[in-house]
Amino acid sequence: MSIPSLEQLQALHPAQQPTYPDRGAVDAAVAKLRQSPPLVFAGECDELKDKIAAVSRGEAFLLAGGDCAETFAEVTADNVRNKLRVLLQMSVVLTYAASVPVVKLGRLAGQYAKPRSSDTETRETPDGPVTLPAYRGDAVNGIEFTPESRIPDPQRLVDVYNASAATLNLVRAFVTGGYADLRQVHTWNNDFVRESPYAQRYELMAGEIERALTFMKAIGADPDEFHRVDFHSSHEALLLDYEHAMTRIDSRTQLPYNVSAHMVWIGERTRQLDGAHVEYFRSIRNPIGCKLGPTATADDALALAARLNPANEPGRLTFITRFGAQKVRDGLPPLVEKVTAEGVQVAWVSDPMHGNTFEASTGYKTRRFDDVLDEIQGFFDVHRALGTVPGGMMVEMTGDDVTEIVGGGEEIDEHGLAHRYESVVDPRLNRVQSLELAFLVAEMLRS
Ligand code: PEP
Ligand code: MN
Repeated sequence: MSIPSLEQLQALHPAQQPTYPDRGAVDAAVAKLRQSPPLVFAGECDELKDKIAAVSRGEAFLLAGGDCAETFAEVTADNVRNKLRVLLQMSVVLTYAASVPVVKLGRLAGQYAKPRSSDTETRETPDGPVTLPAYRGDAVNGIEFTPESRIPDPQRLVDVYNASAATLNLVRAFVTGGYADLRQVHTWNNDFVRESPYAQRYELMAGEIERALTFMKAIGADPDEFHRVDFHSSHEALLLDYEHAMTRIDSRTQLPYNVSAHMVWIGERTRQLDGAHVEYFRSIRNPIGCKLGPTATADDALALAARLNPANEPGRLTFITRFGAQKVRDGLPPLVEKVTAEGVQVAWVSDPMHGNTFEASTGYKTRRFDDVLDEIQGFFDVHRALGTVPGGMMVEMTGDDVTEIVGGGEEIDEHGLAHRYESVVDPRLNRVQSLELAFLVAEMLRS
């Protein structure tokens, strides 16, 4: 299948695109991006597709995590390292519990564009209410609440490329350069368990992992896999100017790939069957995801699968479900049942974040740790009852000690959110909450 032209996609009126003041400047940015080297290689995307096929068969578990929205200011060694460290720590615990490989996917190195439910944002000021264009991610405009900062600036598309290249370069260096060493990661987990008020609950699993590692050492086993890991990048491919410019024909296979990330996904707000995003995603060969929220019907899921994966290729399509803890047990089964009955190949992954967002009494956008956990439990319950595969989870998290989600062992409450709330869009699990979640999901995997 050939790549539709950007003009053809625009004729389909893609949702959630910025309105730029000067289209000429966008064309210049797009032209520059078209000349830029790929950030990932087609062969790496194919490898990830094979791993996701294993996920769909229950022979691997997918852990996807990272910010709701990356920012240019956060492209620092500390930030990327902390996030990666927590993801690696989570993955060791999950690997042990699942007894299968964990496919590690970062929501990073490209996660800079955000769909918004409203085009504008209104704030109270001393001079009365002020309405400005909504912040759509650093890929589009600035978070600062001023008219200048909120004007969409196409130069930011080139900045996304550069920021993604820097991030991915760092990630690749960390995961192959000793930082991902299994014993080292396990030592960090031991530190976490020791500091936790729930130490007793987590100690058992940490102790078992310790004994497994000691045994491996005793028999002299020291495989390569102990010293490096595979890590892949992903983001919501929202801005078609950027994604189209980063789509290339692979010289080896003559097939089109989005070379800005290994995997890209379609958001809940842009999954219209006849929309521009679905049309674009149809044409690329990367493994792709599609969010499915509570309004999605089983027929929607079937129709999306037919359009996005007509060859029914395993690993090609992941449905990322985000129903909310209250709805997952009733809402998810009809989809899974029908998709399975039709023989459609898909990996099922839980996004336990986006159906569980609410505004705290203190005005912060937040989520309850227990709701996040409960949605994952519901996801496991549904799949186990149907005999299908709960393939993994995608969480919004950070490696830092922020206070954006209420609950967890630190018992952050609605007043505590103000202490360190740094997310520019959705609330993230902090370092401790992310690790707690991994240990608690590990218990689900074993039960
Ligand atoms: C997101 O993943 O940050 C997001 C916006 O999700 P959704 O499209 O499911 O609302
Ligand atoms: Mn989000």
